[in-house]
Amino acid sequence: MDFYSPIQSVYYKGLSIDIKRDDLIDPIISGNKWRKLKWNIAEAKKNDKNHLITFGGAFSNHLIATAALSAKSGFKSTAFVRGEKVNNHMLLLCELYGMDLRFVDRTLYKDKNQLFETYFGDNNSAYFIDEGGAGELAVKGCAEIIGELTTFYQHIVCAAGTGTTVAGLLKGIHLHQKQTKLHVIPVLKPSGFIKEEIETYQKDLSLLRLHPDFHFGGYAKTTDELLKFIKDFASETGVLLDPIYTGKAMFALISLIGHNVVPKSDKILFIHTGGLLGLFGKQEEFREIL
Ligand SMILES: *Cc1c(COP(=O)(O)O)cnc(C)c1O
Repeated sequence: MDFYSPIQSVYYKGLSIDIKRDDLIDPIISGNKWRKLKWNIAEAKKNDKNHLITFGGAFSNHLIATAALSAKSGFKSTAFVRGEKVNNHMLLLCELYGMDLRFVDRTLYKDKNQLFETYFGDNNSAYFIDEGGAGELAVKGCAEIIGELTTFYQHIVCAAGTGTTVAGLLKGIHLHQKQTKLHVIPVLKPSGFIKEEIETYQKDLSLLRLHPDFHFGGYAKTTDELLKFIKDFASETGVLLDPIYTGKAMFALISLIGHNVVPKSDKILFIHTGGLLGLFGKQEEFREIL
């Protein structure tokens, strides 16, 4: 392996949980965004393209990952950012990595293929990467997580936004003919689309367990209970979780173990998908619970 994603066992409130530390792959090219970009970058190189064009919201972990990985790979990068021009810590980092940011209104933003066509249609070095890095190559990269495991887990637990990462995990579980149950924690309130996203890549959903009640009010919404949990978990285990994805998923896991949906005597693996820069977007909220 040319990257570092060890499995660490942590003890929390009498429970033993193994964590796949994809967050350690890179401090900026966050866990699953690295997995999703890895084969896209390889494909771009293969086709002699050296300019990544992508899309995202102003707080997107995907944008910052694309900016950092582009710079590291000697590529140029351009991002169409949804909505009015804003400044924040994520976009600042994107710009430090040389990413060209173009803010587009929400209507125009909807048709990404059209945006690419209009601005880069005749640019031979431009390579299209969908919002969040979605697609077949992203799924392939995420499926590889399963191949790195050397022990059998009865349960794997992971957060989902679009569902591409968990589609990869389920695909990997089937490729390696495991009987691992995949517990998915959607972080958006409407989560019906996740099943469809997964089904695009993996038809057999018998090992899938969706737990849709841990969104804490919706995407990027938090509660004091969640923030206090993140603080407690970090201070007890030394592992930081982010408030948008991994914090919600770990909270869910502890609750599922508590209700014996996931028996605590089983082998359990939590996928730490990274996203820690998201902590800085909630500084005020954290201040209030400390
Ligand atoms: C983007 C992201 C996810 C969600 O990934 P999807 O493939 O969109 O489901 C999960 N965790 C973190 C930390 C992320 O940045």
